[in-house]
Amino acid sequence: MPNGCVLCGGDEDEGDILLCELCDQLVHAFCVGFKGRIECGWVCVPCASLQEEEEEEEQDDGAAAAA
Ligand SMILES: [Zn+2]
Ligand SMILES: [Zn+2]
Repeated sequence: MPNGCVLCGGDEDEGDILLCELCDQLVHAFCVGFKGRIECGWVCVPCASLQEEEEEEEQDDGAAAAA
């Protein structure tokens, strides 16, 4: 199990806790400035940017195939 929030190091349940579904890192919602509803399937910023890159690559492939 993760040790706690990767940003502040705290493992206390201070408010909302987010768990990245890709790397299993815990962060407090307020530590990442997350606002809004917490949904299961939250992804941390590094993982989200990786996902975006992969999606962009996929889109590029699709556009090339379509053109
Ligand atoms: Zn924190
Ligand atoms: Zn992650």
